[in-house]
Amino acid sequence: MIQLANRVTQVTPSLTLAITAKAKEMKAQGVDICSFSSGEPDFDTPQYIKDAAVSALDQGKTKYGAVAGEPGLREAIARKLNNDSQLNYSPNNVIVTNGGKHSLFNLMLALIEPGDEVIIPAPYWLSYPEMVKLAQGNPIIVDTTAETDYKITPEQLRQAITSKTKLFVLNSPSNPTGTVYNPAEIKALAEVIVEHNLWVVSDEIYEKILYDGVVHISIGSLGEEILKRTIISNGFAKSYSMTGWRIGYLAGPEPLIKAVSTIQSHSTSNVCTFAQYGAIAALESPKSPPCLQTMRDAFSQRRQVILEKIRAIPQLSCPTPMGSFYVFVDISKTGLNSLEFCDQLLEKQQVAAIPGKAFGADHCIRLSYATDLASIEKGMDRIERFVQETKVNQL
Ligand SMILES: *Cc1c(COP(=O)(O)O)cnc(C)c1O
Repeated sequence: MIQLANRVTQVTPSLTLAITAKAKEMKAQGVDICSFSSGEPDFDTPQYIKDAAVSALDQGKTKYGAVAGEPGLREAIARKLNNDSQLNYSPNNVIVTNGGKHSLFNLMLALIEPGDEVIIPAPYWLSYPEMVKLAQGNPIIVDTTAETDYKITPEQLRQAITSKTKLFVLNSPSNPTGTVYNPAEIKALAEVIVEHNLWVVSDEIYEKILYDGVVHISIGSLGEEILKRTIISNGFAKSYSMTGWRIGYLAGPEPLIKAVSTIQSHSTSNVCTFAQYGAIAALESPKSPPCLQTMRDAFSQRRQVILEKIRAIPQLSCPTPMGSFYVFVDISKTGLNSLEFCDQLLEKQQVAAIPGKAFGADHCIRLSYATDLASIEKGMDRIERFVQETKVNQL
């Protein structure tokens, strides 16, 4: 038997990736699958972004680059953070990473010591607790409910803090719930963070995917004191439909960014050099705003349709998601837990959804509407049939 390192046995493989893979496999075998499992936009990367990367390739941007990123990209990111979020950062406050996931992983390695506590509101993005464990920290999960739109309250945060608390993880707009904190709510959390001298990492990967006129504010923009304790994690995957490019970034106080750079210098080195030129185009091209709007409009229409369908099924309920491309649906009235629900749904109706258990909420499932309208309608009709049949079986 292989004697694996203890750290591996303490983490669980990504359930979302596993289910998405199973649905893809069934589809490849010719099964008529409706998939709500996707964790990525279903659009191609905009052409002007691809063109910029191709042109960088042609210009020989094919060698090792600076560990922390191409200078032009770090500048563009610093400019973006100043312009979009009034964050007073220079390029030295920024490191380019292999995606937002890598940003967060690097951060945990740079900040968390054995025994440090990291407060994570549930439902959470499934990698947060696992990353904390890989860094030998203790994830402290704080359950939130649909009554507060799955937002952690300042009181809940305060109650979870101990002498070992190091970091609080904030994700707005949220995966899996689509929740967006409003400015007053963010301010109230910032006050607790400053009062207890914690760090906060703000995962802003869905900042551009918002509905009904809701605005995103970055917690670091609320003043000097909170900015000192803030690390921004972001990337190009969701906003620009660039999931396969693997480009993300961290922004924060310079000594921390230097530490992350040191770690990165011994693990991955620089992010794919020519890909970074695509990212510069994403941030700087005048073609970006209309492209983002087109994607947002499509998501917005699908969100409307999926919400109507969910609300027509009496056993299902969900808060209205204000960002990202997910709906987090309470299934407790069906009498099934989330694994049973998703297993049986795939088996009986060929519909793929992600069990809420993966996100720390076993009474829910996550439906992604990053798929075409026809599939959403067909898939939701199947879910309705499934729920009705389940009800009949239980009588
Ligand atoms: C997709 C996602 C990320 C990171 O994605 P990358 O592809 O690694 O850039 C980070 N946080 C959340 C909540 C996500 O959904």
